[in-house]
Amino acid sequence: MNEHERRATTEALFRDVNERIAESAERFDAEETDFECECADPSCTHRVSASLEEYEEVREDPTTFLLIPGHEQGDIERVVSRRGRFHVVEKFQAAVRRTVIRLNPRRRPTAPTEG
Ligand SMILES: [Zn+2]
Repeated sequence: MNEHERRATTEALFRDVNERIAESAERFDAEETDFECECADPSCTHRVSASLEEYEEVREDPTTFLLIPGHEQGDIERVVSRRGRFHVVEKFQAAVRRTVIRLNPRRRPTAPTEG
């Protein structure tokens, strides 16, 4: 695993934790909840307050993540949205994109080709 893949894997792990946080927030009808910062620092323990709606928007694209402003690492990701409490970043580094897409928890099974 190279350095880029290692960092992408860290972010994917935080994302998996957040998927479970979102599931339980949904179960308890919480509108807003505290998510883990999805940055590439494995020792980061910061929390990000976001609504489930905001979270879903980020999760829709497997290459976007939410993190504490300033936690973005400019060589692998760029800020695509500033929400005040958190930033949304998109991975642009090729190996990082490949890794987070491969580890996407929302990946659907390939649809059978029609026709
Ligand atoms: Zn962080």
